[in-house]
Amino acid sequence: MNDVMNLDRDVVPEGRNYIGGVFQQAGDGEVIGVYDPARDAELTTIPRSKAADVDQAAAAAKAAFEGPWGRTTVAERADLLDAIADEIEREIDDFALLESLDNGKPFSLARSVDIPRVISNFRFFAGAVRHQETGAHPMDGDAINYTLRRPVGVFGLITPWNLPLYLLSWKVAPALAMGNTLVAKPSEVTPLTAMKLAEVMHKVGVPAGVFNLVHGYGHEVGQAMVAHPDIKGISFTGGTATGHRVAATAAPMFKKLSLELGGKNPTIVFEDCDFDETVKGVARAAFANQGQICLCGSRIFVQREIYERFKTALVEEVNKRVPGNPQDPATNFGALVSQAHLAKVESYIDLAKKEGGVILCGGERPEMHGEFAKGAFLKPTLIDGLAYDSRTATEEIFGPVATIHPFDTPEDAVEMANAVRYGLAGSVWTQDIKTGHRVAAALESGMVWVNTWLLRDLRVPFGGMKDSGVGREGGRFSLEFYSESRNVCVKL
Ligand code: NAP
Repeated sequence: MNDVMNLDRDVVPEGRNYIGGVFQQAGDGEVIGVYDPARDAELTTIPRSKAADVDQAAAAAKAAFEGPWGRTTVAERADLLDAIADEIEREIDDFALLESLDNGKPFSLARSVDIPRVISNFRFFAGAVRHQETGAHPMDGDAINYTLRRPVGVFGLITPWNLPLYLLSWKVAPALAMGNTLVAKPSEVTPLTAMKLAEVMHKVGVPAGVFNLVHGYGHEVGQAMVAHPDIKGISFTGGTATGHRVAATAAPMFKKLSLELGGKNPTIVFEDCDFDETVKGVARAAFANQGQICLCGSRIFVQREIYERFKTALVEEVNKRVPGNPQDPATNFGALVSQAHLAKVESYIDLAKKEGGVILCGGERPEMHGEFAKGAFLKPTLIDGLAYDSRTATEEIFGPVATIHPFDTPEDAVEMANAVRYGLAGSVWTQDIKTGHRVAAALESGMVWVNTWLLRDLRVPFGGMKDSGVGREGGRFSLEFYSESRNVCVKL
């Protein structure tokens, strides 16, 4: 492992687009600064690309799709995915360090969760496509139908800043497995690991034009991708408001569209829960990655019988998260992604106070020293005393801020949990198996965990309902999304 206490800044790659197998700057040479949020210091720059760069990338991707890539076998593509995974694994420390520098997340988290998961995504979809089956529908001896799955063509992949490479690889791996070619745009706030992924693609011999990376702002590059006639499908992960704009452009063009959007997820704790395990699990669900995971449980509902005792224990558990140097392997709580995001999260703490909230812990910036004095740090914050339908308790904050509310019956808990526009994820904590199943079934949510949180099996459907998105990714759901099915009917 690198001596991350003595940062080797040489790991920060030069910011370039990767188009048609060539690393290059934006056509007009404009750049955007990339910042380390823990030090409020510029790390490097990336190209500020425009529609002309997207045109070039889409043309390269289209030519690659129509070229030899379109004739590759499943086995060849699966082997390529495995080679990408192997190469990332060889450079896992550098990838983890870049993710931590760029995003502010603890190196320990990037090294133990984000980057291992990237490797698993490539290996998983290599295996999934090797073992993929398609359907057959015999018609009583008269005819037989069978289903072929064909790649769609050029896919546009647009990803957010919270789990930068983890979420990008969740799209790249199945899209390549099915034989598409790609134009990817990572968040301009956290582009570094995507740049390193392009270097890996180049090194392992992914043919020119198959994977293209175009850096820049969402309203310039992202919008140009969504509107591009040669980009036949869009897989978007980000906020609900942006998803709305993406859908408004892509839907009338009849593009294949997957939207993984925002959340405001409930955590429901019953009085019969395994108390100590639940306290730890609920704190992790609320504050992992500084609360910047779409699945984080930021609305905590606790049955009244244990409310006061649970609150006290939870505050003690939350306070074990101490903001510090993200690159110190001992740090368990990093910086927020940017100064702008910190300001947004703090505005919600002000709102909570105006709405009558009582800050149980956090609610302020920690005192940081030296190179971290101006970093985007905030203490993990737990707020009591708010109505469950207050703005603070229903709007997505996407930071280290959770609200806690008492409830009496399972019906009350479900009603409060469902009283938001979102429906992404939730968790239920109880030792009564019937309560667990019943409440899970009643939640308006794409994913529910019982007595755990963020335990992931890559085969299961991932995605949200209501304003949290459209469509599902994961396992065969991804392989189906990144392909077109074609039925062939043969008369016998
Ligand atoms: P965001 O502002 O919506 O941005 C997401 C991506 O879209 C970025 O790459 C962004 O580029 C780009 N973009 C912005 N405007 C665009 C446009 N008009 N057309 C096309 N692309 C555009 O979201 P974020 O702040 O990066 O991420 C946080 C949000 O993502 C939260 O709401 C969170 O819940 C959600 N999220 C959801 C999931 C899920 O699986 N459901 C997972 C993770 C995160 P710029 O960076 O240049 O704006």
